Amino acid sequence: MKYALIIPDGAADERQESLRGRTPLEAAWTPNMDTLVREGMIGQADHVPASMPSGSDVGTMSLFGYDPHKYHTGRAPIEAAAQGIELGPLDWAIRCNLVHVADGRMRSFTAGQIPSDLARELIQLLQKDQCGSATWKYHAGVSYRNLLIYRSRGESAPFGPETKTVPPHDIPDQPIESHLPQGPGSTELRGLMDRSRPIFAASALNQERGRHGELPATQTWLWGLGKTPALEPFRQRFGKTAAVITAVDLLRGLARLLGWQVIDVPGATGYVDTDYSAKGRYAIDALKTVDLVVVHVEASDEASHEGDAAKKVEVLERIDADIVGPLHRFLKSQGDYRILVSPDHPTFLRTRTHSHGYVPFTICGTGIVADAATTYDEFTAKRSKVAISGHELMPLFLAG
Ligand SMILES: [Zn+2]
Repeated sequence: MKYALIIPDGAADERQESLRGRTPLEAAWTPNMDTLVREGMIGQADHVPASMPSGSDVGTMSLFGYDPHKYHTGRAPIEAAAQGIELGPLDWAIRCNLVHVADGRMRSFTAGQIPSDLARELIQLLQKDQCGSATWKYHAGVSYRNLLIYRSRGESAPFGPETKTVPPHDIPDQPIESHLPQGPGSTELRGLMDRSRPIFAASALNQERGRHGELPATQTWLWGLGKTPALEPFRQRFGKTAAVITAVDLLRGLARLLGWQVIDVPGATGYVDTDYSAKGRYAIDALKTVDLVVVHVEASDEASHEGDAAKKVEVLERIDADIVGPLHRFLKSQGDYRILVSPDHPTFLRTRTHSHGYVPFTICGTGIVADAATTYDEFTAKRSKVAISGHELMPLFLAG
């Protein structure tokens, strides 16, 4: 049996005035997704526990069959896996943003989208400042997105699950004082953030950026820390081999942690201009060697963050025509199969941000009994009365 999962990231939404009272999924022309519903079943799944921040790291972990309550340790260790950084059992990964704070307020969580070469230089200065210490290891990433690794030499880290940090993108223009790290290890984290200030202030290149009207990095912001999550490899848990196609680092990291193949598709950008049909073709190709292929499309989430309803509709139509359609036709032609379409979380055009709550999913293929529904959207899913916890979806998809 061959399996395909297509994730239109953040696709689930509310009804929009600009779409004549329809949700983007209702408004979009999606004959292929509708075929899945007609030939199979529709339901609702909730991938993001109310107590956790909504995002693809939590949502896709659940979608892949792992309860985030139990397994999600933080965002940084997943990003570390994406970069190929291995963590020992006592090591921690910490997200290290380069930010611009002025008058004690978070003015830019990206330091004005700081260029990668300058970011790398600043990260090197931080590392130099730590010379003599084998404990703290900075890793330059892309632009403002960098990592700090705590390397243990046998001792336990000062942090714990009770350590509280705040994502800097959640506190735009707010005073930072009340959002600094709290709990175990927070003294160390605050100390490292304090040390970055004079170092960044002394960097000529960084200050030159300020003179050109751009925002220099004024300090680091440490958050999202965690140990490597203890994820049982997917093959052991579900008995299937898998591959993922995605342009997003978090998903690559999660895939690596699950023992999945990560397939690079030329033209996959993570944005609305991504090459949809190339993703479809590579997915079909991957199914020749693995049991399950996962195709993740970030563009629907991006269109939502931009608050652009028309663009969101267009992205959903492209996913339907260039990915869902070709994959379904191929799967039908080769024998037993199942296909699943499900977003990882809703992203509302109204708020332009990730949300909690149910998303619609549809499964069709071998052994799936058809229900009476005929279209793929939030309200048809709601009427189906099938409503499950997100991490129960993968076992349901693979069952039998
Ligand atoms: Zn997402």
